[in-house]
Amino acid sequence: MRTVTTIAALREITDAARHAGCTVGFVPTMGFFHEGHVSLMRAARADHDLVVVSLFVNPTQFGPNEDLDAYPRDADGDARVATDAGVDVLFAPSAAEMYPRPPLTTVTVSGLTARLCGASRPQHFAGVATVVAKLFSIVGPCTAYFGDKDFQQRQVIRRMVADLDLPVIVVGCPIVREADGLAMSSRNAYLEPAERAAATVLSRALRCARTLVDGGERDAETVRAAVVEIIAAEPLARLEYAEVARADDLAPVARLDAGVEHVVALAVVIGRTRLIDNATLTPSASGVAL
Ligand code: AMP
Repeated sequence: MRTVTTIAALREITDAARHAGCTVGFVPTMGFFHEGHVSLMRAARADHDLVVVSLFVNPTQFGPNEDLDAYPRDADGDARVATDAGVDVLFAPSAAEMYPRPPLTTVTVSGLTARLCGASRPQHFAGVATVVAKLFSIVGPCTAYFGDKDFQQRQVIRRMVADLDLPVIVVGCPIVREADGLAMSSRNAYLEPAERAAATVLSRALRCARTLVDGGERDAETVRAAVVEIIAAEPLARLEYAEVARADDLAPVARLDAGVEHVVALAVVIGRTRLIDNATLTPSASGVAL
């Protein structure tokens, strides 16, 4: 595996690969790799000739009181994990390489970013959309892999690609979880042991939502209230939001309609750690959620 830190060096590699008739699979990340990241790398590896992973802790997607400085980093460990996953190129630019001057141009995806995580992180998705647009421009035409873990982010990127006709195919990959259900996240490293045990409350709440919908419940507020109640019962957890929305436009719903994909999404703060998780549910006419 090669590690490159400049835009010019990466462009040279991806341009040469496409010129030789190769396809490019791309996985954007902020590093501190876990099995969730590896699942995206493997998916890219299975489908493409050249696999590029970017590792960039993007400052513009963090709010003023968020964890930019504390964000976990392990450059050597990440290089080993990426090598083992069959990655060809790790693109690890500095902030100065990505933002040599304060940008006057940004990408905002309206509507989709107003609710859920966007409500408490007003600048977050503009930071994400802008850096991902830059990364797509740097890597060039490719297939890009995103985890369903960050469901709203994936929908924002999909919409940006569609609206701007970017030459990128966006592929979503399932959430990878620990054995006890906790969705893998670089931020799980912040959790103290008691907090780590409490953090299973997110996936427990989502399982309950799924069980309700599987059992025929179609009232979104009933499903939401059950999620809220489970989070409230965990003393170390503070609910930021729990919502039931349509998966495509993230609009809140009153009822879960048969054949329509919905998402139950939540953000929970445990100690100093903000965790997000979600489950997609498509009720069938016969009552079972697919
Ligand atoms: P991050 O480094 O946290 O920005 O994540 C980089 C990519 O990995 C994003 O597309 C995430 O959605 C994805 N990802 C993070 N955690 C998981 C997980 N537990 N399962 C699947 N994908 C994940």
